[in-house]
Amino acid sequence: MHISDKVDNTNNQQPVPTVTPVVTQPQPLQAAPVVAPVTAVVAPPVKDATQPPESEKLKQLKDAILAANIPQMVMLAISYALDLRSSDIHIEPLQNRVRLRYRIDGVLRHVVEYPTNLHPAVVSRIKIMSNLKIDEQRIPQDGRADVTTKEGKQMDLRVSTLPTVNGEKIVMRIQDKSRKIPDLSELGITGTSLKNLTAALSAPNGIIINTGPTGSGKTTTLYSCLSKLNTTDVNILTIEDPVEIQLDGLNQSQVHHDINYSFAMGMRAALRQDPNIIMVGEIRDKETADTAIEASLTGHLVFSTLHTNSAVESLTRLINMGIQPYLLISSLELIIAQRLVRQVCQKCKKEAVVSPETLEMIKKAMSEMKAEGEIEPELLKGMKFYDAVGCDECNHIGYQGRIGLYEVLRMNNKIRKLLSDNGSMIDIQAAAQENGMVTLEQAGIVKALQGKTTIEEVYRVARKSE
Ligand SMILES: [Zn+2]
Repeated sequence: MHISDKVDNTNNQQPVPTVTPVVTQPQPLQAAPVVAPVTAVVAPPVKDATQPPESEKLKQLKDAILAANIPQMVMLAISYALDLRSSDIHIEPLQNRVRLRYRIDGVLRHVVEYPTNLHPAVVSRIKIMSNLKIDEQRIPQDGRADVTTKEGKQMDLRVSTLPTVNGEKIVMRIQDKSRKIPDLSELGITGTSLKNLTAALSAPNGIIINTGPTGSGKTTTLYSCLSKLNTTDVNILTIEDPVEIQLDGLNQSQVHHDINYSFAMGMRAALRQDPNIIMVGEIRDKETADTAIEASLTGHLVFSTLHTNSAVESLTRLINMGIQPYLLISSLELIIAQRLVRQVCQKCKKEAVVSPETLEMIKKAMSEMKAEGEIEPELLKGMKFYDAVGCDECNHIGYQGRIGLYEVLRMNNKIRKLLSDNGSMIDIQAAAQENGMVTLEQAGIVKALQGKTTIEEVYRVARKSE
C-alpha cells in the first residue's frame, strides 16, 4: 500500500522547521537527511510468502530512522500502520528513547524505537500535517489530517498531543471514512440474540440501549441497526459525538460541548424535527435519559449507548441516574451488551490444552445457557479449543480481525415485574437468562468452540462467572 499523504493543510505559509537531526549511529554517506515533500511512493504489497510486504516496510522505517529522514519516518509510520489495520498510532517519548506502538484489533503492539533527539522534528512534522501549533509544547492539542491511500481510500487522522515529563506524546487515531457498515449477521450476533434484536428493530417505539466499554464496537452495531431501518419513508436523526461515519439518508448532527450543544439539547431539537427514529450518542445524564424516555413514550424508536459492563447493569445505572423504574418498564425494549474479541488466524491456530479449572468454569457457564440452538451439540460435547500461534498470513500475531460477542436482554413481563417490585439485579439476571439471554461469557465460549477465537481472548474481554 502506498500513501500519497495528501494533507488537508491550509496554512502552508507556516515555516517548515529546518531539520538538523543528530544521529547516534554512524551515517552512511548516501543516507543524508532529505527533507523532501512527503509524496514518497512505497511499493505496493507484493504477494510473496517469503518476503511479506509488512516486514519490508518495517525495514524501510528502520532505514529512515537511521538516516534521520523525518518526513519519510512519519510517512512510513502511518503507511505501515494502515497495512497492519491499526486503529491508533502511539508515539511515546520515554526516558532515553521514543517508542512507536500500534493498536491492532484492540491490543497495543510494539513496532520500533528511535533516538530521543529525533523526536522534536517528528512532533513538528506531525503538527504541521494536522494544523497544530508547533511552538506550543506545554498544553495538549488536538487536530486532524486527511490521508489518501494509493487505492484512493480517504483516511481520517485524529491527532492529539500530550505534554509528558519526557516530551510530547502523540496519538493518531486512524479512521477509514469509506468503511462499509457491516450487516448485523456479519458482526457476530447470532441465534436468539439476533432474533430478539431483529424483533426489537421492528417495534414502532421504545428504547434500545447498547452498552460496553469504549472501543467495544457499540457505534458500529448501532449504525448497522440504523442502516437496516434506513428507508425513504422514515425520518432518522442522530445526535453524535463525533459523527464517525456518514450514512446516506440519515440526518446526522454533531454535538459541540464548547458552545453547550449537548446530547440533551440535540434530543430536544430532534423531537421538533418530525422524527421516527432517533439515535443519541450516549446517555450520560438524567436530562438525556428523560428526553429519550419522553421520545419513546411519544411513539419514537430511540437508540443510545451507556458505559456499563453488562446488560443488567444498565438498568442499575439508569435507576441510579434518577429514572423511575416504572418509566423504564414502559419505555425499554432491549439492552445489548457487547465486546470485541480477536479472531484467531485460521491458517496457524493449533489445538489448545485447557487447564481443568478453566474447563470447569467453561462447563459451568455453558450449563447455565438456556437458549436453544446456539451451538452445534457435537462442538459442545467435544470441548475442543484453539491457541493463537502466528504466521506470515497474520503478521505473526496469531489473530486477524475481530468479531462481536453479544448479550441481548429482551424485556418481558417477568423482568418488568421484578423492576417494579425493586427486585435484585441477581434475580433480573436470572430471569433474563431464563428468557434466552446468552451472556457475554457464554457467547465467547460458543465462538471459541466454533474455532473463531481462543478461550484466552474470551476471558480477556468478558467477565468470568462468579
Ligand atoms: Zn497465522
